[in-house]
Amino acid sequence: MIEVEHFTDKELEGLLATAKYDEELRRRALALRRKIYGNKIFVRGLIEFTNFCQNDCYYCGIRCGNKKAERYRLTQREILDCCEKGYALGFRTFVLQGGEDAFFSDAVLVPIVQEIKKKFPDAAITLSVGERSKASYQKLFEAGAERYLLRHETADENHFAKLHPEQQKLSTRLECLKNLKEIGYVVGSGFMVGSPFQTLKNLVQDIRFLQNLHPEMIGIGPFISHKDTIFKNEPNGDLQLTLRLLAILRILFPYALLPATTALGTLAENGRELGMEYGANVLMPNLSPQDIRKKYNLYDNKIFDGDEDALQLANLQKRMVKAGWEIVIDRGDPIRRA
Ligand code: SAH
Repeated sequence: MIEVEHFTDKELEGLLATAKYDEELRRRALALRRKIYGNKIFVRGLIEFTNFCQNDCYYCGIRCGNKKAERYRLTQREILDCCEKGYALGFRTFVLQGGEDAFFSDAVLVPIVQEIKKKFPDAAITLSVGERSKASYQKLFEAGAERYLLRHETADENHFAKLHPEQQKLSTRLECLKNLKEIGYVVGSGFMVGSPFQTLKNLVQDIRFLQNLHPEMIGIGPFISHKDTIFKNEPNGDLQLTLRLLAILRILFPYALLPATTALGTLAENGRELGMEYGANVLMPNLSPQDIRKKYNLYDNKIFDGDEDALQLANLQKRMVKAGWEIVIDRGDPIRRA
């Protein structure tokens, strides 16, 4: 049996380098996931409410330096419409994700969160809007946001510097994650698999970083190149390595909420089903209005399945049922160890 829990860094690196143990990792991860979360899949309705961004992350299609990106932002009314549609379909978590858009200051974003909370008191609100001050995180928390997704992207400072311009610092990101935890958010972090310059050692560092942080949610997905970024010619992340990492994370974090991400579904047609087999337990279908989806283009060929549409969600449900899973109507809070 592969005791990943007791592996040294070197051993972990060796495990990441080979497909030899994938079947065993998959079986263990799947058994753990079944034991704790049964055959349930939690869904989160993703609302991509702005693609304006002041950052210039080299890998991302909505970076400010991409002059070809057609920019948009949703109004409060449009965001609430997305929630309403989603709620009727059974979503009990809304994820508001966007670029770092100064337009959504606290004065603008706080009332939006409050309004969603008021209209849908039994739904959880997750924010994913990047780095903000502790005071801002605090205000948004008090307004009703309970969860926050902020990937660390890479735990290695040198690697971080190769993926971001100089003014973006790993230390700032870590400070933000610490602040979010202190305030009491349910926190999600994570990284891309196969981002340019990433080494297996970096991935071990990422795993160790997460073991220190203890996030309740961990989002990983393959890097996928975007034609209007400087990484346009870089190869995409590897499917099997992503699945291997998912399984390892499930074993190391039995209770974690692990999404089979859109990027995984973009890399392979059955990517999200495969993700479930390797320990994932969350799906994040898109609730954004159909006409703006193509504009929230973090990477090329992003899937745009119209999951906000009742029929499409029923199709996704059908696909998952066929694979032995059940999508549930539930906030999908993390189960914490007693
Ligand atoms: N601006 C917010 C959230 C938007 S991006 C933030 O910075 O947190 C959400 C995630 O998409 C990022 O954390 C990144 O890991 C991922 N992402 C960005 N570009 C990508 C690409 N080219 N391929 C795969 N994932 C990407």
